[in-house]
Amino acid sequence: MANVFVTQHIGTAGVQKLRQAGHEVTYRDKTEPMTAAELQTAVRPADGLVCLLTDRLDTAVLDAAPNLKMIANVAVGYDNIDVAAATERGILVSNTPDVLTEATADHAFALLLALARRLPEADAFMRAGKYEKFEMFPPLLGLEVTGKTLGIVGLGRIGAAVARRGALGFGMQVLYTANGAKTAVEQALGAQKVSLPELLRQSDFVSINVPLTPETRHLFTLDTLRQMKPTACLINTARGPIVKEADLLQALREGIIWGAALDVFEAEPQMTPGLADYHERLVVAPHLGSATGETRQKMVETAVTNLLAGLSNQTPPNALNAAALGRE
Ligand code: NAP
Repeated sequence: MANVFVTQHIGTAGVQKLRQAGHEVTYRDKTEPMTAAELQTAVRPADGLVCLLTDRLDTAVLDAAPNLKMIANVAVGYDNIDVAAATERGILVSNTPDVLTEATADHAFALLLALARRLPEADAFMRAGKYEKFEMFPPLLGLEVTGKTLGIVGLGRIGAAVARRGALGFGMQVLYTANGAKTAVEQALGAQKVSLPELLRQSDFVSINVPLTPETRHLFTLDTLRQMKPTACLINTARGPIVKEADLLQALREGIIWGAALDVFEAEPQMTPGLADYHERLVVAPHLGSATGETRQKMVETAVTNLLAGLSNQTPPNALNAAALGRE
């Protein structure tokens, strides 16, 4: 039997499964994260942890948990966890890949279409009673999507799923960046690997799908945005700090790019001052990429499965550092 701490609300099914496996579970059934000090106190007795992306697991937290064997993040991104420090302390870390890929790609495409066809602006226009006459060239003219060029920055699981929607659903040409070549996707979709400057120069829609790392933090600044077409759109469903938000606001105001759609923010849940007041060609959502009922449930199940494996000395299916810990 292990002591498991669940940092935030994940629903009762996951907690029940942990209890049925015989573990002593402390369930903090709250929808806001703890402060750093609260988290350090709460993790002290824990052997296992289930946490969300808003829980920052840094060295101070890891050092406050002398018994900790396993951290199961309920997210695919794990920029909230110092994985190297966890590995040094012999702590397994897992994430929830694959189960959220399609939902997140759907959301990226929903944002892309909403932006291109100006749906939030159109919705506000109707509700304000401004629709008085049909016009051939109305104020809310949008952008054609079909047949355009889609640039995927980070063609991994989600990037490939966005590319598939673009290529097969909308006849788009797909350009991409990644660390390695993705030959299967190239063959299936006719996608082409190019440098980031080339992708920015050619793409009509740029979808950010890289993880947040020291290399990708502020990958998009004014300098990057200036390399895009003035008719191009930026869609970010990855992590907020990949885009320097003040620079994006300037780029939108000055017409350096046509528009942007953001699911994630640099200092979430806040938006850079000025961004919320900017209504034209900017679509925003409160980090809803994977937020369908089915997918969120699968994420919890995946995290619980990982934790149960790790606590019973098996290799968790989605361990990030099993090899480094000699656990494969
Ligand atoms: P993934 O399969 O690991 O894909 C990431 C891709 O980015 C990989 O193909 C990787 O290339 C590439 N990459 C990494 N660093 C790069 C760099 N500096 N330049 C160019 N490409 C780079 O991860 P995923 O499952 O698709 O998830 C991607 C991210 O989406 C997550 O990390 C998370 O932050 C975010 N996310 C957000 C939501 C949301 O709710 N908005 C939901 C789910 C995920 P290689 O494969 O060649 O190494």
